[in-house]
Amino acid sequence: MKIRNCLNPSQPCFSFEFFPPKTDAGVASLLRTVEELAPLNPGFVSVTYGAGGSTRDRTVELVTHIKQHTGIEAMAHLTCVGHTRDELRDVLRRLAAARIENVLILRGDPPQGQQTFEPVPGGFRYAEELVRFVREEDFNFCLGGACYPEGHVETASREDDLRHLKAKVDAGMDFVVTQLFFDNAFYFDFVERARRAGINVPIVPGIMPITNYEQVQRFTRMCGATVPMRLALQMERVKDQPDAVVQLGVAHATVQCMELLARGVPGIHFYTLNKSPATRMIVSALRARS
Ligand code: FAD
Repeated sequence: MKIRNCLNPSQPCFSFEFFPPKTDAGVASLLRTVEELAPLNPGFVSVTYGAGGSTRDRTVELVTHIKQHTGIEAMAHLTCVGHTRDELRDVLRRLAAARIENVLILRGDPPQGQQTFEPVPGGFRYAEELVRFVREEDFNFCLGGACYPEGHVETASREDDLRHLKAKVDAGMDFVVTQLFFDNAFYFDFVERARRAGINVPIVPGIMPITNYEQVQRFTRMCGATVPMRLALQMERVKDQPDAVVQLGVAHATVQCMELLARGVPGIHFYTLNKSPATRMIVSALRARS
């Protein structure tokens, strides 16, 4: 199934993102998480692409395994980092051979120790170039990409970022998924600006329930997302009580999702960090209300 066909405001789909574990024990634990989340009938799940090394093969193996053994549509992420176009073609061929129909196309972050992104010789500098490549090579994938309601960390201005997003979408993207955000105002404002700029593909909000406050502070420093002052203060107050952090994180994300659904989003993508309980609680609460 092509994901673009399940992104529909009148019947929004939930999706879950995982990362490929480094160890076999991690893979076994992830597959348990997938099993635990399967009864929630996700529209699709996705598996991220690592910065390098063996987990990259695991992305292909995991999406293949999930699709074949659970019947859940599984999307592979793919980045330009460290790959020549021949290597990227090879990964795409492996995905096509495994009947994977959806790929999330990304540039990726600069490798550790590098300030700016430099493509390898024969590689790509921007996600837009990889999208164009996939389309020129005549693969029949449904393609997604990333977008940033608060602006990408490297961009000089949100206007520039939006211009680049438009070019990326025009190169052949079918939908985009947002970076995580904790304040829906960023998402609604972004969608409005994107529509005005002529970006008409579905814009799926990406939601990460906070389950560990230090971890979220680390993520938000890296990706530039803002934690609203009120939520930050509440988290500070309970940060030494792990259960209270989870409860607060789940409650905040549930309220965010309720508003997003009420205002007609085409789906909600959950950054699960390979754990099921928080996502299960939120989706169950949302389903109970509908
Ligand atoms: P691009 O769209 O190429 O943009 C990168 C920067 O370049 C932006 O600042 C943009 O404004 C600018 N730019 C774009 N085009 C041009 C141009 N023509 N001229 C000048 N500037 C330009 N990372 C991983 O490593 N693996 C993953 O699996 C992964 N999954 C992700 C999933 C989602 C939903 C999101 C939101 C992010 C994910 N990331 C992942 C992180 C992502 O790789 C980084 O945010 C990365 O820094 C940018 O990737 P991009 O595809 O958005 O890049």
